[in-house]
Amino acid sequence: SMSADAYSRLHEITVSGGDVPAPFTSFEVAGFPSEILREVHNAGFPSPTPIQAQSWPITLQGRDIVAVAKTGSGKTLGYLIPGFIHLKNCRNDPRMGPTVLVLAPTRELATQIQDEAVKFGRSSRISCTCLYGGAPKGPQLRDLDRGVDIVVATPGRLNDILEMRRISLHQVSYLVLDEADRMLDMGFEPQIRKIVKEVPARRQTLMFTATWPKEVRKIAADLLVKPVQVNIGNVD
Ligand code: ADP
Ligand code: MG
Repeated sequence: SMSADAYSRLHEITVSGGDVPAPFTSFEVAGFPSEILREVHNAGFPSPTPIQAQSWPITLQGRDIVAVAKTGSGKTLGYLIPGFIHLKNCRNDPRMGPTVLVLAPTRELATQIQDEAVKFGRSSRISCTCLYGGAPKGPQLRDLDRGVDIVVATPGRLNDILEMRRISLHQVSYLVLDEADRMLDMGFEPQIRKIVKEVPARRQTLMFTATWPKEVRKIAADLLVKPVQVNIGNVD
């Protein structure tokens, strides 16, 4: 097997931050719980993608992270699998509110993320629901009342439900901003900031983005604490 340095060069991985752990060049070295390994094997995935390989060991240390990698590079499992492990380590009562919160720009993306969470979280017995606009609130509120470990939400709908006081984010300890660049392009920054105010400061925050413009840098600087940054390929 290849050295970590050779792996990083081959896949154009660059990192910044102190004491960055070596990438997991295979699923076997990741040391995931067996129920998670079973799901990646069932999916037929031969090896981690580069963003997964380098972001997993950092996230599993409990550190904040900014991950910049293009669309289709496997970012969803990059944050979901450490999220499952986080849930294993701190099981809250889901009826008190979610432990993991993922913000995503659109209904379509939120639904895809939920599908991936359900598929890969099945043997970990993880519950997940999705909140997005353009659909009735009733079924979404019923799922919340029943209690879920993971909420995947678009910022607009989550804000509406927060204002109705039908969700508490006080148990969230693992916060993901997925497609941060697109969320800002769509004008969601005020809603994101309002939501994050409801999440305890003692949390792990992960930001995934395909590009790294100054608006994204600014919100990362405000919401993340000493993040490690991982870039795959050339980043503008
Ligand atoms: P991104 O969020 O970076 O655009 P996705 O997380 O949507 O990418 O992943 C793109 C596709 O790659 C999905 O179909 C996903 O199931 C698949 N995938 C994820 N991880 C791996 C892997 N390690 N090996 C092969 N395919 C993977
Ligand atoms: Mg994605």
